[in-house]
Amino acid sequence: MTAPVAATDCDLLITGGPVITLDDELGTIAQGAVAVVDGVIVDVGESSALAGRWRPRERLDTHGGTLVPGFTDQHVHLGSFLRARASATAERSGRSAGLFADGGDIAAIVELVARACAEPLDPRFTYAAARPVLAAMLRSGFTGVVDAGGPAPAGIVEAAKELGIRAAIGPSLADTWSDDGTEAPSRRIDTDAALAAATEFVAATDSTGQNRVVALLSCVDPLACSDELLTGMAELVARTGVPMHAHVNCTANHVPVHRALHGNTPIERLADFGLLGPGTTAMHAVYLSDREVRLLARTGTTVNHNPLGNAFLGFGVAAQKSVPRLTEAGVPVVLGSDTAPNWIPGPFDLIHAALLLQRDAAMDDEALSCTAALAMTVGGAGPLGRGGGAIAPGKLADLVVVGTVGPKFYAAPDPVSAVALQAAGADVTHTIVDGRIVVADSELVGIDAAQLVADWVGARRELDEMR
Ligand SMILES: [Zn+2]
Repeated sequence: MTAPVAATDCDLLITGGPVITLDDELGTIAQGAVAVVDGVIVDVGESSALAGRWRPRERLDTHGGTLVPGFTDQHVHLGSFLRARASATAERSGRSAGLFADGGDIAAIVELVARACAEPLDPRFTYAAARPVLAAMLRSGFTGVVDAGGPAPAGIVEAAKELGIRAAIGPSLADTWSDDGTEAPSRRIDTDAALAAATEFVAATDSTGQNRVVALLSCVDPLACSDELLTGMAELVARTGVPMHAHVNCTANHVPVHRALHGNTPIERLADFGLLGPGTTAMHAVYLSDREVRLLARTGTTVNHNPLGNAFLGFGVAAQKSVPRLTEAGVPVVLGSDTAPNWIPGPFDLIHAALLLQRDAAMDDEALSCTAALAMTVGGAGPLGRGGGAIAPGKLADLVVVGTVGPKFYAAPDPVSAVALQAAGADVTHTIVDGRIVVADSELVGIDAAQLVADWVGARRELDEMR
């Protein structure tokens, strides 16, 4: 007779239902369990096996709900939520066609974004704007968010730290654009000053990726960057290892307009400055040559695909069929929303949009699998990719419980289908970041959501009065 093995202490033991690990070896466990120590997953397996091995300080029973890796929205302009409930850009501009119609008025789009990012703004305004958005994101199952750029990022850092979401945030760099969209772009802000501010931000914020909130260098668009600015960004990335991302090859007109000015595409120009690599995410990357696909694959660059926000704007985001070309070439593709400031989607909205658009564009019901769509939404790559993307020992304990019980889930043949096809943000019962439960029984823990909204209304009013 062997002596019983003593159980080991752990912080959290999660049991009670299926576990979709998205790990090649562990797969989906019908009655699974996960043990967590110091914010890191230390054990994954059958519930019966883990029960004897661990003595938890805290237990979480999912009551049949499915445990999945936490979701990451890889493209949100959090600062722009300051303008939530303002009329949409195209409606306000009085244009006869949308800003993105006929391949997009790229000069006007870049000017709009570059100006917004360069706007001097007290960080308390972006802090107030980001907090209700981050609360809504946690509630719908996002454990991570990548800010895609905007003014006063320091306020968003504070909001993310307070709300407990994993986040990559940083200064948005651009120094060159056309004021009226017709004349040639020219230098609008001081390049050295912009680089100095970015260097200071990176020094003040973790650039090693070890903390929950990390620094990120955001290139608004190569179209809006001088050679000097791109050189400075490359030096900062090389010196600090800070991850960076850039809006590239977005609309049909983006590439030809960039080529007319610089003789190459936005992606090729980033490559020329040494800015492609495993630490870089190419945002959008919709209009791609075969050479660019090979370039992205060879350099280990990640691509951020935004099916919902970009289909909404008529990018032709699925029609270009870039996603299957990228995944076939081995380029990691991660999903984002890009719907700010008037729309906060949940992770299941992104999964549905990716599945519907990719399958319709390919006219193939197997063009994108539910598992692949889930994997694109759990943040295994991009600026927050280190340590995420699966439930396995050694991975960060960023986890979500989806309440996959009840009539709505009756028809789903397996847990992956239940989560990818049936679930909605309201079905999320628990959101766990770094091993800490931040949403419990569908309620935010220790967060007064109504107060966050009231604070934003006050900040918005104050800003309107200042202008
Ligand atoms: Zn964007």
